[in-house]
Amino acid sequence: MDIDINLINVIPRKFVLENLVIPVSTKGETINFLCGENFDDTFKAYLKFIYRKEVFLTRVKDEKVKKLIFKYYGDTHISSEIFKKEEEDKGSNSTYIDFVENLIKKGIEDNASDIHIEPFNKEARIRLRVYGILEEDRVIPLKEYEGVISRIKILSSMDIAEKRKFQEGKIRFLYKDKNYDLRTSIIPTVNGEKVVIRILKKGEDIKNLEDINYGEKVNRPLKNMLKNQGGIILVTGPTGSGKTTSLYAMLNYLNEGKINITTIEDPVEYTLKGVNQVNINNSLGINFSNSLRVTLRQDPDVIMVGEIRDEETAKIAVRAAITGHLVLSTLHTNNALGAFNRLEDMGVPKYLLYDSIKVILSQRLVKTLCPYCKEEIYLKNEEKNIYKSFQSRGCTKCSFKGIGGRVLLSEAMVINRKDKSMTFLTNLEENIRESISKGIISREEGMRYLSI
Ligand SMILES: [Zn+2]
Repeated sequence: MDIDINLINVIPRKFVLENLVIPVSTKGETINFLCGENFDDTFKAYLKFIYRKEVFLTRVKDEKVKKLIFKYYGDTHISSEIFKKEEEDKGSNSTYIDFVENLIKKGIEDNASDIHIEPFNKEARIRLRVYGILEEDRVIPLKEYEGVISRIKILSSMDIAEKRKFQEGKIRFLYKDKNYDLRTSIIPTVNGEKVVIRILKKGEDIKNLEDINYGEKVNRPLKNMLKNQGGIILVTGPTGSGKTTSLYAMLNYLNEGKINITTIEDPVEYTLKGVNQVNINNSLGINFSNSLRVTLRQDPDVIMVGEIRDEETAKIAVRAAITGHLVLSTLHTNNALGAFNRLEDMGVPKYLLYDSIKVILSQRLVKTLCPYCKEEIYLKNEEKNIYKSFQSRGCTKCSFKGIGGRVLLSEAMVINRKDKSMTFLTNLEENIRESISKGIISREEGMRYLSI
């Protein structure tokens, strides 16, 4: 269905969403509307009045109307009018105070890791990063953007007048009796200042190893490796594959106060009680390799290095592991074997890799089907054989996206020091295929990860 945008523009989003009604087409002097099951007929007069035409209503399922409203009005589009209205109600400053507060609350509620606010030619776009993916939340007019930025600067103790320099700040935010640490940064761009608010997770949000779906087959030997001194445990996967979450689950398992743990991160994503956390700051010359070198002088039992990106960091990490430190880190490679080869390419001799690495985990965070609207479907393959598959069409529970959440699918490759061999405890491809056939993930989604 293609709805004329001029029809849409006549009535505000708030009205259509509250009353579940949407104009779909014009025929002569009549406008056809789709409305929900419980549409109040008294609003028919209102519609007549606004459009100055006859109104013809067709009742359909609520979901159908909602889906159309989200499609044509956007999920949460805030227009200038709403700002103006709030301004009249409360005075201009409180508009921005409330706006920023509500935005941060939404970020926390949606489990976003960061909020991006970017200016463009005519408008500013607000996006939330949820499960590693940036999703547009709303668009605001440029002239409102200035007020929003100023409010964020005040909250972050930044210089409001400064518009051309990089600035960093912190916000303590209390929401539902819980304290959140937010890190804000502002970067000047050609269109104005871009803001990123990072929402740090607290220790209590950190997952346990049991909750991240490596499975018992992996967790049992992994826990042994964590409890034994020395060696490297590596997690690999593309951006947004939950690598940091996995490392934190391991730290969580280790963090009992009897051992000294230091992390070097870019940037710190969670705050962990009793753990020394170092933030990488390239502009100040604090990078992974020199932080790691300094950290080692303090002789920690466990070191978490956010990522091994260069030769120097790789070599120091291996040396630390061989001299009795447990090193947890990540590598940006697609599979476990690739990580081993990458380290070799970085100039670490193979025998040292066999001596130091205990296990390499490779993982993906894969979208699951919404369990509320999941259904079996039957498809034909190229040989015309029918096979069973699953899909989620979307429902109110999943905001019509068909996504239930994310599941971590992984493989674990253990390095055997003695005979210099590798053993797979689990296999990523098998895990993906199994999840497709069980209907946990869709075939399409699974295939995306299988083709890598
Ligand atoms: Zn659903």
